[in-house]
Amino acid sequence: MSGKKRLLTGLQPSGTLHIGNYFGALKPFVDQYKDSESFLMVVDYHSLTSLKDPAQLRQNIIEVVKDYVAAGVDPSQAVIFKQSDVLEHMELAWILECLIPVSYLEKAVAYKDKVAKGLEANAGLFNYPILMAADILLYDTEVVPVGSDQKQHVEYAREAAAKFNTAYGKTFIEPQEKIVEGVGVVPGTDGKKMSKSYGNTIPLFGTKEEITKAVMCIVTDSSGERPENVYQIHKLFKSEAELAALYEEKKGKYKDLKEALAADIESFIAPMRAKRDAITDEDVKQILKDGAEKARAMASLKMADVRTKVGVTL
Ligand code: ATP
Ligand code: MG
Repeated sequence: MSGKKRLLTGLQPSGTLHIGNYFGALKPFVDQYKDSESFLMVVDYHSLTSLKDPAQLRQNIIEVVKDYVAAGVDPSQAVIFKQSDVLEHMELAWILECLIPVSYLEKAVAYKDKVAKGLEANAGLFNYPILMAADILLYDTEVVPVGSDQKQHVEYAREAAAKFNTAYGKTFIEPQEKIVEGVGVVPGTDGKKMSKSYGNTIPLFGTKEEITKAVMCIVTDSSGERPENVYQIHKLFKSEAELAALYEEKKGKYKDLKEALAADIESFIAPMRAKRDAITDEDVKQILKDGAEKARAMASLKMADVRTKVGVTL
């Protein structure tokens, strides 16, 4: 061990990454991953809870890895891998499931939110926090950069670690979430949490036209002079001091403000988009192959210990 902290996060290839994913999870990872031993996952098995289209999933996995690299993650300095390449995630999830009461999982807010939004209440979605706990605990993760919606899930991971440690002896580290103030919940075009599965996103690497179209659809509240949803997103791209003059000058002119926001997003994204265009599918496959080898080596060691501790190794 290098003495560096272990950092890990993951995003689902359940759709196209959006600016909420970027500011809530990806950018916080990019900002600190070089000071840590860092792992960045594509949690493809998680996305099966909502996505049932194999061709789409394959495509999304490729796109997400391109997004990671374009956003600034250097594959030689972080382990970029996909969850399904390391079967130990599934194995550990089962063992942890046998320690977590159903009543505890029933308190999961993200599950309730998704079901309330009309997503299928399948058992995978219900057990999601346990698979996520396995993702985190397998690598002795200390810090998990996430959006606010995942705070409770990291708490589940701590609980799973504690339950296992109590039952079988000290094995897992209790991880801490890292939520960056002001970006924990980026609102979507409807004012609710921006989510791939809610159809309310501004795509991170959309074309200029796609980004403009999404921005123009942001729901505005006509009761005040400042369109709050527009402003909350705009704050991610410009300082409040810079925005004060613009929002004063364009008071009540929602269309102008949205156009200004679309232009600011475009100038922010354009350089990353250019970098992204140079990444090939073959590059992605190589990155995932290398990452899988490194992740597997660590996960298999950890699981050998776990299997012995629970009593299945003779
Ligand atoms: P899905 O709708 O399929 O759950 P999602 O958009 O919520 O997709 P996830 O892959 O579940 O994205 O989450 C990846 C990371 O992005 C997590 O750390 C999550 O907390 C963060 N995140 C997701 N949406 C937002 C948001 N609107 N604001 C800030 N962070 C977010
Ligand atoms: Mg989500």
